[in-house]
Amino acid sequence: MKYYSLNNNSKDVSFLNAVKNGLASDRGLYFPKKIPLLSKDLIKNIKSFSNHEIAFKAIEPYVGKDIPNERLKRIIEETLSFDFPIIPITNSISSLELFHGPTLAFKDVGARFMARCLAYANEIKETKKLTILVATSGDTGGAVADGFYDVDGINVVILYPKGKVSPIQEKQLTTFGKNITALEIDGTFDDCQDMVKSAFIDSEIKEKISLTSANSINIARWLAQMFYFFIAFKERPNPDKKLAISVPSGNFGNLCAGLMAKQMGLPIDHFIASTNINNTVPNYLETGIYSAKKSQTTLSNAMDVGDPSNFIRIQEIFNNDLFKTKKSISGSYFNDSETIKGIKEVFKKNKYITDPHGAIGYLGLKSFLNLTGEDFSGIFLGTAHPIKFAETVESTLKIKMDIPERLKSILELNKKSIQIENYNQLKLFLLDR
Ligand SMILES: *Cc1c(COP(=O)(O)O)cnc(C)c1O
Repeated sequence: MKYYSLNNNSKDVSFLNAVKNGLASDRGLYFPKKIPLLSKDLIKNIKSFSNHEIAFKAIEPYVGKDIPNERLKRIIEETLSFDFPIIPITNSISSLELFHGPTLAFKDVGARFMARCLAYANEIKETKKLTILVATSGDTGGAVADGFYDVDGINVVILYPKGKVSPIQEKQLTTFGKNITALEIDGTFDDCQDMVKSAFIDSEIKEKISLTSANSINIARWLAQMFYFFIAFKERPNPDKKLAISVPSGNFGNLCAGLMAKQMGLPIDHFIASTNINNTVPNYLETGIYSAKKSQTTLSNAMDVGDPSNFIRIQEIFNNDLFKTKKSISGSYFNDSETIKGIKEVFKKNKYITDPHGAIGYLGLKSFLNLTGEDFSGIFLGTAHPIKFAETVESTLKIKMDIPERLKSILELNKKSIQIENYNQLKLFLLDR
């Protein structure tokens, strides 16, 4: 499989090169030259395949000869090493919990897959030591740090905005040590992002070290997210009905992975793009006009994105055709007080505790089902464990949640970070290593 740049101004590359580059040299996102089709047998008899077998069949055509099959199988086993339960909330609504991985958010899947692909790339080709530079508003940094911890030949440098990530998230970023360094920036997430961008175009840095990013535009992170859409289809509670999946969305990598699975032939009948008030994509679906906005802060902060990077991939999938896009995706958006009501409503229905992102997924699904009636049954993606947003969830439901074991041990560790004031300090830090 070859990958081309959506800016159409750079050479096609293989899977591993696309993973190593992150972005194409013309700053475009990579996209596969063709979308492979699944065998009919896999769809028809999906229950007879294990999740690992299904994931292998889904991803193998995208990887091709770049990684030997046996190694790819091992990577998949190590990636999908935790549970993905589907929990029914009502007769027609269930939650697919994607938060049983090490950092308690769905990003673990993409980050673990990407880390293992890069580790393989490093093994077969002694290159300059690779540095992953990533800006985070919270969840990405932790998942990337965990995924790459102690991987040979790879250093990870995480930039995060001081005082603007939750206490749990900060521990997840700053307690690893070894090949993981956390840099604390006196500024906003956008400032962190700007510094990362400056580093990527700095010729002095490029000469000395190999830099790559690990955000959701990387194809290894993006495509691995297809795996749990297959699990959703396999384990769906009402197989006689049409399937709708609601995806709480920010940068739209997750939803876009679901769309790829559908293009390959996975029978998902409809997607709901559920967002908070950062509703650029729902607006586009309504008006046909894409108008990026500055991001606004909300309770579902991992979705505070005003100009989603992966939107361009959605356009590519549907050939820029709004009519076709709307046949597969509906949009819905909710403000913070609706989100709070959603958390309460789900708890009332089934004593189910959802975080603010999942609540938005639930609300989007509910409004879609209200419009379409009985033919559909739906699943929303539970993208984060409610304990990651304990303050909101506990004060809304007037409950106290238990802290999962794997979090307790992290909370006891000491924070280690380096304070950075400006780009020059970041540059010195990177060149000094
Ligand atoms: C990152 C994140 C999202 C948004 O996912 P995208 O792929 O960027 O659309 C939603 N919920 C949680 C908890 C996240 O961490």
